[in-house]
Amino acid sequence: MKFETKAIHTGQEPDKATGAVIVPIYQTSTYAQGAPGEHKGYEYSRTANPTRTALERCLASLEGAKFGLAFSSGMAATSTVMNLMKTNNHIISCDDLYGGTYRIFEKVYKDYGLEFSYVDLTTPENLLKVLKENTRMIWIETPTNPLLKIIDLSKVSRLARKHRLILAVDNTFATPYFQKPLLLGADIVVHSSTKYLGGHSDLVGGAILTSSQKYYDRMKFCQNAVGGVPGPFDCFLALRGLKTLSLRMREHQANAFEVSRFLSRHKKVKRVIYPGLKSHPAHNLAKMQMSGFGGIVSFELKSGLAGSRRFLKSLKLFFLAESLGGVESLADHPAIMTHSSVPLKLRKRLGISDSLIRLSVGIENKEDLLEDLRRSLTFV
Ligand SMILES: *Cc1c(COP(=O)(O)O)cnc(C)c1O
Repeated sequence: MKFETKAIHTGQEPDKATGAVIVPIYQTSTYAQGAPGEHKGYEYSRTANPTRTALERCLASLEGAKFGLAFSSGMAATSTVMNLMKTNNHIISCDDLYGGTYRIFEKVYKDYGLEFSYVDLTTPENLLKVLKENTRMIWIETPTNPLLKIIDLSKVSRLARKHRLILAVDNTFATPYFQKPLLLGADIVVHSSTKYLGGHSDLVGGAILTSSQKYYDRMKFCQNAVGGVPGPFDCFLALRGLKTLSLRMREHQANAFEVSRFLSRHKKVKRVIYPGLKSHPAHNLAKMQMSGFGGIVSFELKSGLAGSRRFLKSLKLFFLAESLGGVESLADHPAIMTHSSVPLKLRKRLGISDSLIRLSVGIENKEDLLEDLRRSLTFV
């Protein structure tokens, strides 16, 4: 089956009891047993729940993975990947990273004796400079957040294999519709399904996908042992969102192209970052490893913080909000909002300036979106 079909059907056979074509919301914590230990595969909903099983199977099929695990948030998924590590293990991470991921590495897992190095992996060989005896994992996002840098997944996975490191990829921005890291050699894919997978800004969720039996067994154990699982209603919403993932991603991309071209031509805009533009430094690499460029556009205004504030306050259709990936357009000021937990010095080095704005371009009518941007730019 192809992607669009799997999104609608995998794990979602008609209900055996009633024929319902939609997977029911199994709103139950426990399951009656015939005799002690005799059950139908379900004992307690932290361990497994049928609505969650459907979501896990569907997500795995979309990423080309053997196994899927669903979580109550992207961070719960990330945390469970970290449960593969042991005290004194060293992790090499890309330097432009979701703020919450940076925070859990630095403020939680450092206290458990894990070590982290942050390097610019747009040059994959940079990881050799920080490689140590105790390095166990490489953690990357591509495209990165918010600067949309592209990291060569095949090259990094070759290096990971050579040095026997686990390669984990946060695929939230691209989604499996546009990029499948496992097929390019990654061991583990992580998602915040809060974003494009759910797609309607009405749920918080996360997922892990892998084809490794060994890593799956350990993370499945930790999913149950630690307990960051999603409720059945959230699983239902995620499944419902997935059915239209391909449609939405195509529209997000079409509108993101329009927005990036419009901004590139505007005299008050200093630079536009979108992997689909030829001006993007890694446009060719993006074209090679992705089947599309996604719906996030970042750009810098020529004026400083005051101008950015006026622009963001004037937007009407683009809501000024954290998060991304929903059908509605959102605008974010990374330095003040999503990336405020990244230290100022690091933000400066990365290029997250006070005039950087990140747009999550929704699937509204493109003319309406451009008009909102055009009008708001007059206030800069
Ligand atoms: C939002 C996000 C996360 C965290 O996910 P939550 O669902 O908010 O816990 C992780 N990585 C990326 C790239 C994100 O955008």
